[in-house]
Amino acid sequence: MTRTVTALFRDFYLSTCEASVTAILDDGGIEFDQTCFYAASGGQPGDTGFLEREDGSRILIADTRHGATKDIIVHIPADGQPTPSVGEKLVLHIDWPRRYRLMRMHTACHLLSVVCPFPITGASVGEEESRVDFDMSETIDKDQVTAALMKLVEENHPVYVQWITDEELADNPGIVKSKNVRPPMGLGRVSLVCIGENSSVDSQPCGGTHVSETQEVGAIHIAKIEKKGKENRRFRIRFGAPENRTSV
Ligand SMILES: [Zn+2]
Repeated sequence: MTRTVTALFRDFYLSTCEASVTAILDDGGIEFDQTCFYAASGGQPGDTGFLEREDGSRILIADTRHGATKDIIVHIPADGQPTPSVGEKLVLHIDWPRRYRLMRMHTACHLLSVVCPFPITGASVGEEESRVDFDMSETIDKDQVTAALMKLVEENHPVYVQWITDEELADNPGIVKSKNVRPPMGLGRVSLVCIGENSSVDSQPCGGTHVSETQEVGAIHIAKIEKKGKENRRFRIRFGAPENRTSV
């Protein structure tokens, strides 16, 4: 099976790269020798974009998914697109404005897990809205959460990835501050997403894409906190300042 080397994990800001087709799957999915596209994982949707052929024509990509294993990245063309041939060289272009919004939102979800240090039971990163479900029974005021989030954004903490081996993680369980996420061990190494100098704000295992400074997240707010059962709270994060509310 083809193994895609992901250029992505070296640089989240890489929006284009050259690559050669290594396989065309029965369902039309395309694999390359390298890619800057992110495959849907951990609540973050896969990248969309297009492939530029030598003659300048385009093949639109509607989604990106993992193959049988996490090291395989399959680019799913939109309906009715031409199929490239194996060995063909193309330039891959991510829909960057969309991806950047997802990076900002994904980073916002990390900040929310700092502000609300409860076990996460589910998360979904979206372009307009993200949701994070927490296992918690406490009632929290959404405006207070928004204020705490914006404080972390404005403090402009660095966000970076630290690779550690499975052994290092096993020897130093304290390296992972967040107890919410089980580290994806078994691949030999784990990527920790660290926020703040020396992970002063947070560090947790995550394979998604993030901005490099919290200020890039921009204005966000908690639009809603829903009660989903006795011990579950669903937080909805949206871009922008809180909407004006009429006084109660
Ligand atoms: Zn993440």
